[in-house]
Amino acid sequence: MISSQLIVVYLLFLLTASAEVSYASNDELPVVRNIRELNQDGETIPGISHITVAGALSHGFKEIEVWLETVAPGGHTPVHRHDCEEIFVVVKGSGTLYLASTTGSEFPGSPKEFPFSTNSTFHVPQNDAHQVWNTNRFEDLQYFVVISRPPMNLFVYEDWLTPHSAAVPVFPVMWDAKHYKSSSSASSDEL
Ligand code: ZN
Repeated sequence: MISSQLIVVYLLFLLTASAEVSYASNDELPVVRNIRELNQDGETIPGISHITVAGALSHGFKEIEVWLETVAPGGHTPVHRHDCEEIFVVVKGSGTLYLASTTGSEFPGSPKEFPFSTNSTFHVPQNDAHQVWNTNRFEDLQYFVVISRPPMNLFVYEDWLTPHSAAVPVFPVMWDAKHYKSSSSASSDEL
């Protein structure tokens, strides 16, 4: 769970950035790359190691983005939603997807539980609140994530009873922050 203090600090950082997105260029990107040699973003969420395999702000892709994440035993994403489509492909371990519809109530409420394991694939409907847990006490959980229309606009809930309207917007997401260029910093780069 992202602490509220972390989110406040992050929001203060965002206040200095404009909403204009500056994509990287993938002109120089090798066609074939080895995922073992990709930049590790490390533990951007406690218990979750993140690698952007192919991203918008990091590599210049416009329509889709691919991540590889490894979740330690007991680790989990925050409860969150986003308006992009999201598909998971589980390559190792096991866990549970918690999923609540965003329509019809002020807050997510009790989520449905969907257990999954190695070779499972699952998707998250657009804007539905969800959370992924590694419920295995002994083994890492590892999965690829594919999202549409990057970069992701994330909304983070304190818990399942947080009103949808009180979910905290996070943009850029934590691993995109170092690639994010506001219009003001882009123009200063040109000097
Ligand atoms: Zn998600």
